[in-house]
Amino acid sequence: MASQNTNKKVHIISLGCVKNTVDSEIIAGGLESAGIELTDDPNQANTIIVNTCGFIGDAKQESVDVILEAAQLKKDGQLEELLVAGCLSARYKKQLTLEMPEVDKFFVTEDFRRIFKHIAAKPHLADDPDHRRKLLTRRHYAYLKISEGCDNVCSFCAIPLMRGKQRSRDIESLVKEAHSLVARGVRELMVIAQDSTTYGWDLKPKRYLHELLTELDKIEGLDWIRLHYAHPSHFSRKLIPVLKNAKRIVPYLDIPVQHASSNMLSAMKRGLDADGLRRLLLNLREEIPNLKLRTSIIVGFPGETEEDFETLMNFLDEIKFDRLGVFTYSEEEDTSGALLKDDVTQGQKVDRMDAVMQLQHGISFEKNQALIGQSLDVIIDAKDPENDDQMIGRTVWDAPEIDQVVYVSGSLDPGSIVKAVIEDAGPYELYASAKI
Ligand code: SF4
Repeated sequence: MASQNTNKKVHIISLGCVKNTVDSEIIAGGLESAGIELTDDPNQANTIIVNTCGFIGDAKQESVDVILEAAQLKKDGQLEELLVAGCLSARYKKQLTLEMPEVDKFFVTEDFRRIFKHIAAKPHLADDPDHRRKLLTRRHYAYLKISEGCDNVCSFCAIPLMRGKQRSRDIESLVKEAHSLVARGVRELMVIAQDSTTYGWDLKPKRYLHELLTELDKIEGLDWIRLHYAHPSHFSRKLIPVLKNAKRIVPYLDIPVQHASSNMLSAMKRGLDADGLRRLLLNLREEIPNLKLRTSIIVGFPGETEEDFETLMNFLDEIKFDRLGVFTYSEEEDTSGALLKDDVTQGQKVDRMDAVMQLQHGISFEKNQALIGQSLDVIIDAKDPENDDQMIGRTVWDAPEIDQVVYVSGSLDPGSIVKAVIEDAGPYELYASAKI
């Protein structure tokens, strides 16, 4: 066991998406295993690491604000060292170094070993730091990041500029990590990547997502496996029987379509046109019983006409996604989208986003109402902080943090999976009682 390093007390602030959470978990795990104390309280720390997000304008601003707040602690004399890592740092390192002298050091994404070496003042000797993750999620679920980076060229997206080309991990190391997570009490695994459907294409020899999922599906002790970020253009038919016959992979697919007008899909460089998308989604629903689809949409991309938007709305009304997130377009420098004239006003973007949300509100409400009276498996996440007499959980069709919850009456163990009868439903939540 590593000896206690008494000089450092580190607080990690993890911003942005769950892929960043995994990076923070690797940093935290490495430091903890070297005997360095971690604290949840920034006021108790002498070192703060801000793991930033650089996705879109609002996320970048949030990262800058958080760095400035931490910098204030340093000015006040409480904090000795401020370190910045993650996507924003990877993308704007030069500029930030000039503009933020309060920051002691900037690291790029995946700089785990350098961050470790800097703080622990010794080299990181672990063969595979991914196995030393300290989970920052609830004990019973975890994210499995199967690859880093992205080889796609979606015109609105700067992620490849920050995270680089795709680098997939090999199947053996992912299965090993999944086993070690299960041994630590994880029952639900969220498979994540920038584009999970191109998993393994960069490996030599090439490997494929259906092969990885087949192996993960064999892991005893794992109850639910959930697939995220499936790019519709790269969705292989070989995935269908795996998803359909799986023991542990839940009938849930996160498949971001981004738009549904062929003009927009082409301008966004998304590969499939609207007919291709429609065929794929209808086919998935037909072949995989009980499948629920989650998607995300961008409105207000340059050149989006009223007609394009109407096409999108008709498509959403036809497909009736089970879960949906909608964003307004924001121009990202150095992307090919930034070369296009951003001709949709902010007011139009917000109106279109509201219209999508209103449509989805009705669709979700109707779908949830149809569940009343049914008995469903629910994983219990936690006690409801606002009501001591009920728990908060999720169905197999809901991912943590982003999808709806089920309020289950009574007191139940977090991490348990119970049968619950749905008694009432709102547009984005269900109410149930557990069957004893
Ligand atoms: S698939 Fe497209 S949107 Fe997703 S990370 Fe890659 S480039 Fe960005």
